[in-house]
Amino acid sequence: MSADTKLMPIPGPDTVPVPRAVVPRADGKVELVGLPKDDIRRVLEEAGLDARQAKLRAKQIWHWIYNRGVSDFEAMTDIAKAQKPWLNERFTITRPDVVEAQVSVDGTRKWLLKTHDGHDFEMVFIPDADRGTLCVSSQVGCTLNCRFCHTGTMKLVRNLEPAEIVGQVMLARDALGEWPSSPDGRMLTNIVMMGMGEPLYNFDNVKQALKIVMDGDGLGLSKRRITLSTSGVVPMMERCGDEIGVNLAVSLHAVTKEVRDEIVPLNKKYGIEQLLEACAAYPGANNARRITFEYIMLKDKNDSDDDARELVRLLKHYELPAKVNLIPFNPWEGSEYQTSTPERIRSFSNIVFEAGISAPVRTPRGRDIDAACGQLKTAAEKRKRADLDREAAAQGLNDAA
Ligand code: SAH
Ligand code: SF4
Repeated sequence: MSADTKLMPIPGPDTVPVPRAVVPRADGKVELVGLPKDDIRRVLEEAGLDARQAKLRAKQIWHWIYNRGVSDFEAMTDIAKAQKPWLNERFTITRPDVVEAQVSVDGTRKWLLKTHDGHDFEMVFIPDADRGTLCVSSQVGCTLNCRFCHTGTMKLVRNLEPAEIVGQVMLARDALGEWPSSPDGRMLTNIVMMGMGEPLYNFDNVKQALKIVMDGDGLGLSKRRITLSTSGVVPMMERCGDEIGVNLAVSLHAVTKEVRDEIVPLNKKYGIEQLLEACAAYPGANNARRITFEYIMLKDKNDSDDDARELVRLLKHYELPAKVNLIPFNPWEGSEYQTSTPERIRSFSNIVFEAGISAPVRTPRGRDIDAACGQLKTAAEKRKRADLDREAAAQGLNDAA
């Protein structure tokens, strides 16, 4: 079965077109992963259980799914044997399919995953001495076409469903052998919504998924250990803080309109001032919980000392509780930019640091398996930047962005 890839406008103040699949599972079963506990109760009741039974079963099933990592009703020992075939016929507990799993020499792992309707997406796990970070995707592809980003050259886009977002975290737990869920000694300690896609263009699904990830009875990760990265979808930022409450990272990448318009085309819609104002108003941001500003280092494009000074000026002007993450550009085949030299990056970092703002340089991880930032894109989808631009122009997407 193939996805419905017709262009559909995203509801709300924005009109970036997104091809969106409304594809039910081929087997007609209801996916229980990603449903809030009360919705599990509801679907059980709708399928015929009486209210009391539905409530009890929902509680038990939830526990098996999120605390024990079980995906088979047969393994649920406190559910009556006679009821299991009934559950099996109607419901399913699935993970995204794993097409390929790779491990880098530095321990970084990358998974190529597939949705039930056949779309590829990726997930990356980055182990460090004191933490392990899972980089989770929110969409298959991305509508925003940032010029340095490989994901932005993927044409096909569909939003990932809550099950597919929570499912990534569960798959990682499977692979790391971290069931039953216990807060001690876990390898997977942090989550960043920095894989494929723009999470704030899939707000409802990302919210529903992260609620389960943060639920103390669910996957139990603290909101302080979850970071959502946006390229600057200004109208959704306040809701992100209010309704999800995770840490915010903003892909700033440039300090002038000219350069940001070029490398992050969404800037034509929401400019730097508007974006930084939204950051200053971000609910929950303070000196103990800073906003991360991601800044990709592109040779002779955005990496001068003047750029660094302007960055400092902007962050101070808006009184932002900020830290800056300097990301050396990871080139990919067909990309038009080069990475800044190490000396340039050091000089840039020093200027920001001397102004009292932390500005670490992010070391690229998993380069040998193409797992580094912005490289997430499946081989099947490789296209030349120029082709994409022609198609986008033909569809009028450039005007919308
Ligand atoms: N769409 C969201 C989140 C996914 S992108 C956003 O843009 O914030 C996650 C991060 O990867 C962003 O900071 C992005 O700028 C960075 N990135 C993309 N392409 C890259 C590349 N080629 N090299 C290094 N970082 C890249
Ligand atoms: Fe999309 Fe983020 Fe890549 Fe830009 S950097 S194209 S918003 S995934």
